[in-house]
Amino acid sequence: MLCLSLVDISLTSNWLNRPYIRICLALLAFMLVAAVGILAISWQTSQGLRRDTGANLQQSVRLVDMTLDNAAIATSAVENLIGVPCDASTVQALRWQVAKVPNVRTVNLYHQNTIYCASLFGPRADNISTDKYVGGRLMLMSGNSVTPDHPLIAYRHDVNGSGVVVGVDGYFLHNILSLLSTHAYLVLQVGDKWMDSKGMIHTGEGWPDGERMELTSENYPYAIRLVIRPSDHWSYVFDYATVSLVLFPLLSLFIAFMTYSLLGRVGSPTAALKEALEKKQFIPYLQPVVDGTTHELTGVEVLMRWQHPQSGLIPPYQFIPLAEESGLIVPMTRQMMAQVRDQFGPMAAELPKNFHFGFNICASHFKDLSLAEDCKAFIDAFKANPINLVLELTERELIEPSETTHGLFNALRRMGVLIAMDDFGTGHSSLAYLQKFHIDILKIDQSFIGRIGTDALAGHIVDNVIDLAKRLQMIIVAEGIETQTQVDYLAPYQLEFLQGYFFGKPVPPAEFIDKWL
Ligand code: C2E
Ligand code: CA
Ligand code: CA
Repeated sequence: MLCLSLVDISLTSNWLNRPYIRICLALLAFMLVAAVGILAISWQTSQGLRRDTGANLQQSVRLVDMTLDNAAIATSAVENLIGVPCDASTVQALRWQVAKVPNVRTVNLYHQNTIYCASLFGPRADNISTDKYVGGRLMLMSGNSVTPDHPLIAYRHDVNGSGVVVGVDGYFLHNILSLLSTHAYLVLQVGDKWMDSKGMIHTGEGWPDGERMELTSENYPYAIRLVIRPSDHWSYVFDYATVSLVLFPLLSLFIAFMTYSLLGRVGSPTAALKEALEKKQFIPYLQPVVDGTTHELTGVEVLMRWQHPQSGLIPPYQFIPLAEESGLIVPMTRQMMAQVRDQFGPMAAELPKNFHFGFNICASHFKDLSLAEDCKAFIDAFKANPINLVLELTERELIEPSETTHGLFNALRRMGVLIAMDDFGTGHSSLAYLQKFHIDILKIDQSFIGRIGTDALAGHIVDNVIDLAKRLQMIIVAEGIETQTQVDYLAPYQLEFLQGYFFGKPVPPAEFIDKWL
């Protein structure tokens, strides 16, 4: 309820920090960054993949050309033997090429449709289907009579119906394919036959799905064709974009988290308090406390106000609960103590003797060791005419005893700081509690004073509270005095101090000085 009223003041219609809007916007930010990441990665990889496979395509044509060049060298070397009888020296010359030229497995002479001289067997009469040679020069074969399971390419050099046929080992060719097919399916195509990177010979179609590329050799009648399959994209991403793959989801998460938390901060009530603190919008109002008998000024209670640029003066019940919850009450109180110190310190001599300043301190502040330093600085500012510093802690919010709080209370006592129990009668402080924290002053809650003169029972309760306070032998302040009746009713009790609108409302320091000093 209290927080809501603060929200009303500072962010009348700030819908951005509603939880579901924050979650939606964070999700949106996540998806946006993730989408950009996916687009960037896929664009980068498809570019890289195309570039790399294109280079592989050219490289494989170059290597296959080089292999076939060797076959051409062997054929040229024995060209002069075409038509020569297949005697021992001819066979020897053919074998010499097999031994000398790389990649070449067999060298054979043919006349019309018959091989008549082979490097392996010498004179022979094997059929040769010259019409099956693509471009009259190349034929892809899954094997021959010697090695039926071993693929090879036959290279033919024809001179008027006779010529040389050289067998090139398929091993070299599918090795080339296999080495260059890291991120694509690569084949060597001759006519309607093709060899895959495992050395298998196929006919017709039957390729995997994907993006296709092809490069035809300028020197021989074959082409290298490749297919980039979807799986190639993924393997390329894993090989070359691992960092982006890890980075983008992390970045998306980070940005989503930042969006969520920043939206929470922008315009949140706590942010509004923080900003107000930086702009020094929390200012002290001073209410006089008077002597119980003479009604002369004896001190003040410092009450915080928020001087809001749009909403004007905001009373403490609208922001103190959130300030306490967020921990901002500590710097806010420190700032206010400093303001009062700087304003009244220089005019210490003009204050009545034994004047006291009361500050409201919340329970959590008693865990902060800076409190002792601030109190010391405050007291030291009034050396010219020493004052009493009173810290008021409310009975509704009891302090838990701990080593820190005890140390702090002892330090404060040594400095002469007085501790007042505010709103006495509304909480549950026991005698033991009052003694443990060395309470010096009891401020009887205004709800009791307000009941004076209303009915007989109310009078009875007031009598009892004052009686209890008197028996505890502490200095007593009656708060919330508004009428002469109340003053008269309390007179016989001879309370030390009185406070209330009857004597003076809380006012800004300048007005207080004007009126009272
Ligand atoms: P409180 O400490 O009990 O302060 C007394 C409150 O009663 C003040 O309200 C004061 O204006 C009001 N009051 C004084 N005389 C009369 C009177 O004759 N009749 C009536 N009806 N009211 C009277 P205020 O300034 O609105 O402060 C409300 C509460 O906010 C304070 O109660 C205190 O608990 C808290 N507060 C104010 N300033 C601070 C601060 O600097 N720090 C902390 N932690 N709490 C503060
Ligand atoms: Ca108080
Ligand atoms: Ca009070």
